[in-house]
Amino acid sequence: MTDDLLERTRKFVDTEVLPETAWLDARPDVPTPLTSRWHEAGLSNWWLPERYGGPGASLSTSVDVVSELSYGDAGFAFGSFLSILGTTLLHLYGDHDLADGYLTRMAGGGGCCAILISEQEAGSELHRTATTITADGDALVLDGEKYFSTNTDAADFLIVAGRAADDPSGYSLVLVPRDAPGVEVTKRWDMIGLRGSGTYAATLRGVRVPAVNRLSGNGLRDLEAGLNASRILIAATAIGTARRVRDVCMAYAATKKVKGALLVDNDVFAAKLGQMEAQIDVMRNQCLAAAAQFDGLMAAPNASGALYRAGALRSALAAKMHCGQAGWQVATTGSEMFGGLGFTHEHVIGKLVRDLRYVGLVEGGDDVVRDLLFGRYVLPAAKRL
Ligand SMILES: Cc1cc2nc3c(=O)[nH]c(=O)nc-3n(C[C@H](O)[C@H](O)[C@H](O)COP(=O)(O)OP(=O)(O)OC[C@H]3O[C@@H](n4cnc5c(N)ncnc54)[C@H](O)[C@@H]3O)c2cc1C
Repeated sequence: MTDDLLERTRKFVDTEVLPETAWLDARPDVPTPLTSRWHEAGLSNWWLPERYGGPGASLSTSVDVVSELSYGDAGFAFGSFLSILGTTLLHLYGDHDLADGYLTRMAGGGGCCAILISEQEAGSELHRTATTITADGDALVLDGEKYFSTNTDAADFLIVAGRAADDPSGYSLVLVPRDAPGVEVTKRWDMIGLRGSGTYAATLRGVRVPAVNRLSGNGLRDLEAGLNASRILIAATAIGTARRVRDVCMAYAATKKVKGALLVDNDVFAAKLGQMEAQIDVMRNQCLAAAAQFDGLMAAPNASGALYRAGALRSALAAKMHCGQAGWQVATTGSEMFGGLGFTHEHVIGKLVRDLRYVGLVEGGDDVVRDLLFGRYVLPAAKRL
């Protein structure tokens, strides 16, 4: 089912996404009509396993799909792929029937899910979550405030991180239907980039769900396993956005004259574009290496256990950090290319710079990623976290 996925994605981006760049950057209501057209084209949630009726694309293929989508619009890409975190967690650690029900509906209907982890106070220290999960007979009751969560308003279901009210060391992830009483979306953030996607603040007040909605395992460890997939695709956003930066620079240089000649014939310009090409190639190679490792673990006889034991993959952390940094260098070089125009809203380059910034922030800023790499892979094994 995935043979022509990339080709169809490119066509969709050319005909549907690229013409809408300015409109997507104007913070339209989401989901936009593009999301239903993406589904009608048979492309939504392309990674969902065939077992649920999805196309079943690998993460390696998804790296290129996300690069293509981000070439069109990083916000549309982000809103389209971020559900991979919630669906992977549900697939790996959710009750079999629960996963079958939600993921089959999602594959058929083209819906999305959201992941509610971040809190204002706890920041990246997820173990400080103040969201409580109280067992009450055959039910769980959730209370908490979540600061950022993408796609929440339109989601079919939410995966919420919290800890047991009677055991603060008991972390869990719980599936909450979006329409469960007590779930309230309190605002949509006005983000500087990815403006074609929607990220929200939300509260949960006495939200009651069946106990079977709790995912198995320690919630923080489950998260590490799932975050590998979304971190690699966040990194891949930088590839597509950087490719677009390169191409808008080339188009501009074909018209701009410097020292009596076109910029495209200038050696300094050529060196900058050569540097960009190397950065784009290394970004893609690192994402593909990380995705291949993830795909290998997903294909293991006990994928849930293999990923749980592996935790945060070095290759995925390196991909996100490297792509955030290299992508940012490409963006800043690109914006400089346009002189003062690069600092206006008149040219798409400003949007590309703003979009690229998120790669080094979301799902762990660079300080957090460096800390994880040190704690998991640099410290001697006996001292590792
Ligand atoms: C567009 C967007 C979409 C998002 N979507 C979601 C979503 O769907 N679900 C969700 O749960 N969250 C989401 N988030 C939240 C996002 O993942 C967090 O904002 C991000 O991980 C950073 O965490 P924080 O905001 O808590 O800041 P912090 O990590 O607390 O950072 C604040 C400061 O503390 C420093 N710091 C933190 N940890 C360390 C450390 N270990 N060592 C040294 N310095 C450190 C940082 O460098 C920074 O200077 C989204 C955010 C954005 C911008």
